[in-house]
Amino acid sequence: MKYNFFPFCFFNGKIVEFESAKVSVATKALQYGMAVFGGIRGYYRKDLSGVYVFRISDHYKRFLNSLKILGVKFPYSAKELIDITVSLIKKNSSKSNFYLRPFAYADSLGLSPNFAVDSDFNFTLYMLPLEEYLSINKGLRVKVSSFRRVADNAIPSRAKISGAYVNSALASKEAYDNNCDEAIFLTEDGHIAEGSAENLFIVRNNRLITPPVSDDVLEGITRDTILTLAQRLGIEVEVRSIDRTELYVCDEAFFCGTGVQVSWIKEIDRRVIGNGKIGKITKALQELYFNVVQGFDEEAESWRTFVSLKK
Ligand code: PMP
Repeated sequence: MKYNFFPFCFFNGKIVEFESAKVSVATKALQYGMAVFGGIRGYYRKDLSGVYVFRISDHYKRFLNSLKILGVKFPYSAKELIDITVSLIKKNSSKSNFYLRPFAYADSLGLSPNFAVDSDFNFTLYMLPLEEYLSINKGLRVKVSSFRRVADNAIPSRAKISGAYVNSALASKEAYDNNCDEAIFLTEDGHIAEGSAENLFIVRNNRLITPPVSDDVLEGITRDTILTLAQRLGIEVEVRSIDRTELYVCDEAFFCGTGVQVSWIKEIDRRVIGNGKIGKITKALQELYFNVVQGFDEEAESWRTFVSLKK
């Protein structure tokens, strides 16, 4: 598979060519998954010659919290991370929607999987063009995974820790191998957690339901966005544990996340959801979400950072 990256990235304290940003094979982050990452979207507006970056402060707040959970030293503040990000966007002068990948990693070459000794983390940031990650229109076929979500006392899902994504990879591979688009994880005690890289919502009797953050889910920024937008639309919301079989009898279901945006689910474990078409609450939230992230909704202005690309 060939991937496109923007030509510049931030690496070892400065903006350099993406192709020149390399680490040693002995790097702890590579050996043991000791890293923390983020995923932020930018939406290009040709008419404004600039981009809207969505909830950048919240993304960096979670990023720094993930490092705090690991208990490592990190040399950058949220403000510095935002400044670096804005400089990189300007330098790459993107003319398309894009995805930013901030990455904090254990760059020591020490052998031990312990960062009590070599505790410094380095920072890199790169970007790639990104439109859809999972289809937002076709309706996804989903499978409840036989792999359980990593629990808070194993590798906390609340933190976006690279090594934990082996758990995601196992579940999404199993889903693909079964001709599905994505997986849904259960917690160790058998409640619904989330997708492999996205949060989950269902609708039952016109009520929007999502698992609480204490059910081993990432505290998704899109999840929080959807909860806020639902309130704006007057939709009743329940944040509570969800049983597996509630998935089979719900009226609507969708995933949300920075990558997937709002992607509706057509089928779970071969049970058709609702009438097999996008549900009306999902559709209303999806439409409002795209207006919000692309900068067409005034009320959500405080969530957006505009970066002008005018020369
Ligand atoms: N859960 C997991 C496991 C994820 O990797 C992601 C993607 N970051 C999400 C949920 C969605 O989070 P967000 O809305 O902040 O992108």
